Amino acid sequence: MGCIFCEILDGKRDGHLLYEDKSHISFLDKYPIDVGHSLIIPREHHERITDMDSEDVGKIFSLVPKIANAILKATGADAFSLGQNNGRAAKQIIPHVHIHIIPRYNSKGSVWTKRQISNDDELVELSKNIRSFIV
Ligand SMILES: [Zn+2]
Repeated sequence: MGCIFCEILDGKRDGHLLYEDKSHISFLDKYPIDVGHSLIIPREHHERITDMDSEDVGKIFSLVPKIANAILKATGADAFSLGQNNGRAAKQIIPHVHIHIIPRYNSKGSVWTKRQISNDDELVELSKNIRSFIV
C-alpha cells in the first residue's frame, strides 16, 4: 500500500518543502486549515507516534520552534496550534506520523476552521517565503 508521505520523501510526489535534515522533512499541508499550515514528518515510516522510539519523538518535536517561528514571521500569524493525531478515530488521514503546525490569526477567530483547497502557485510562494526565515 502506498503512503503519500513516503512518496513525497522519495520525490515521486510534489511537496512544498520548508525544511529537511537527515531524519525529517517539513512541508506545507495541501489542504490547509489556515494559511501556512505545515507538517513535520520523520523520514522513517511509522504509523503512530507510539511506534517510534522516544528519542526520535523528542527529535521531531525539537524542530517545532524553528519551523513555527519561520511560519509566524512569513505569514504574520499571531499564534499557532500543534496537532498530532494517531489513528483513524483521531482523524489521522495519512498513516505516517506527522505533526501539524497551524498558524492562528486574531482576525479569523480560533476555531478549528474548515480545510481549504490550496492554490499551487500560492503554496510555491509561501514555501519560499517560509524557507527564507528558517535559521
Ligand atoms: Zn510513509
